[in-house]
Amino acid sequence: MTDAAIPTTWDPPGAGTFAAPQAEGPWLLTPPGGPPRPAAGPGEDSEDEIRAVLFDRDGTLVEDVPYNADPALVRPQPKADEALAELRARGVATGVVSNQSGIARGRFTRAELMEANRRVEELLGPFGVWAICPHGPAGGCRCRKPAPGLILAACERLGVPPERTAVVGDIGSDLEAARAAGARGVLVPTPVTRREEIVSAGEWAPDLLTAVRRLLAGAPASTAEGAA
Ligand SMILES: [Mg+2]
Ligand SMILES: [Zn+2]
Repeated sequence: MTDAAIPTTWDPPGAGTFAAPQAEGPWLLTPPGGPPRPAAGPGEDSEDEIRAVLFDRDGTLVEDVPYNADPALVRPQPKADEALAELRARGVATGVVSNQSGIARGRFTRAELMEANRRVEELLGPFGVWAICPHGPAGGCRCRKPAPGLILAACERLGVPPERTAVVGDIGSDLEAARAAGARGVLVPTPVTRREEIVSAGEWAPDLLTAVRRLLAGAPASTAEGAA
């Protein structure tokens, strides 16, 4: 699948709002004026240097509250703010890639979801792109993780190829999507992440700051060997 094959819903340039959702394709939101260009790394821009990190929202950046569109219930995960500060200080692009089937299920509206996402940015700072799948599991879309569509669309919007992008998530589906997109995936488990997902993750880290520091250092995160 090529990037061009993914139907996307682009927001009008500079508007900072979602365009009317289409039946297919992710919702994409970028700041007015577009996402900041990721800086080249220090010294040589080496082939494997990570230039963008995309985070799952629920259970990764913030506590997992099922179908949450309530800003009052948005609480950052441990060390999320430090992890993001390090990425921004290094000029690495950041984004959110989030399945929000509560839209398809009628659990909340787009406007309500936006309020919760705004709260995430109030607490954790601005992201270069938000890519959201509003579809349900039966919708057959190509953006709902573990499909790669959200990641490919976010990469395209940031101007960073998937092979220079890392995806951080709390469940196996996040890492499957990363693999399918050709991006590097790192699992940061929560107490409810199943052990088999940690074992099959390939790379995992105990918290977001550790994950990000390993990505910035170019070092592989821990493999599943020895996972508790
Ligand atoms: Mg999650
Ligand atoms: Zn979708």
